[in-house]
Amino acid sequence: MSNKNPRNQQPTIGEVMDQAGVGRRQFMKYCAGITAMMAMPPLSTAAFARDLRAARRPSVIYMPFQECTGCLESLTRSFAPALENLMFNTISLDYNHTLQAAAGEAAEAARHAAMEENFGEYVLICDGSIPTKINGAYGTSDGHTFIQQLEEAAEGAAAIVAVGACAAFGGVAAAHPNPTGAVGVADLIKDRPIINVPGCPPMPEVMTGVLVSFLASGVPALDKHLRPKAFFGDTIHDRCYRRRFYDRGLFAKSFDDEGARNGWCLYELGCRGPTTYNACATIKWNGGASWPVEAGHGCIGCSEPNFWDQGGFYEPLSAKLFEERGQAAVAAAAGVAVGAAAAYGARRRQKKLAGDAE
Ligand code: SF4
Ligand code: SF4
Repeated sequence: MSNKNPRNQQPTIGEVMDQAGVGRRQFMKYCAGITAMMAMPPLSTAAFARDLRAARRPSVIYMPFQECTGCLESLTRSFAPALENLMFNTISLDYNHTLQAAAGEAAEAARHAAMEENFGEYVLICDGSIPTKINGAYGTSDGHTFIQQLEEAAEGAAAIVAVGACAAFGGVAAAHPNPTGAVGVADLIKDRPIINVPGCPPMPEVMTGVLVSFLASGVPALDKHLRPKAFFGDTIHDRCYRRRFYDRGLFAKSFDDEGARNGWCLYELGCRGPTTYNACATIKWNGGASWPVEAGHGCIGCSEPNFWDQGGFYEPLSAKLFEERGQAAVAAAAGVAVGAAAAYGARRRQKKLAGDAE
């Protein structure tokens, strides 16, 4: 995993792929997968592939802070591109204390060497929040607080990718009452490009897709929460296959009722899909096998700021949340849908009463 070449001596990704015996057809398939995932037009694949081949293989420093390793667990389950493909052909992962063989002082020495040799050029990936109370004393490593480590690593980074709800927004550690004063990377670092890839955990293909697209074309278009629009441009609700039931006012009322068995909308069971921006409904999880709503559970909004503090996961979305997310239009639609559901329920009750009377 070690990289001893300064970046300007690094081979291009195309050269590495050639050495690894990755054929043109395979490489184009790889690029087509990524551009499709990012909803780029098919005609853009050739230009994307050309830019990616010409890019130099970057040094990547992966720093964990106050985290649970769930984001890395998720990353190792990426199918497009698979993590080993990403690591061996596309990036030089110079520090990640979970994946690397070196430990302790040797690992820290490797990190410092990579940061020095690639100063201004490396990509810094962070997961976990950064505790700020009592001068950051809640989180330390190698004799330094996480605040110091982040500031040091950020200084020479070309860009920072904050993966997971914690690195992006503080996550579970920042939930009320936030005892450690946990914050996200963007709360502390203001002078470097930051790309947030939130989620608890984030989608593996989104993490690898963001990295690869950054190499090909730099920092992508971001939304107001610094999330790449290519993956976080639509709500879960916009793309949900249960949407047709929502629009018809057909809602499951419990997880084991007739509506649930019929696959009806989970809005009344607390689904946060209407206010959550992520790609689960299109890319899905585990290589496209399924995703939470398809498995019968509502979205809990894990890619949004403050998702732990936005009310019970099984309470229908509040008007306040809709308002906060600037989604008055969806709120109005929800009102219509809930109204429709109420009318539907009333019709059913009337029918049942009529049946009982007969
Ligand atoms: S509320 Fe949830 S289950 Fe219903 S359509 Fe929207 S995302 Fe799908
Ligand atoms: S469905 Fe919602 S809660 Fe589940 S992973 Fe996707 S964004 Fe997160």
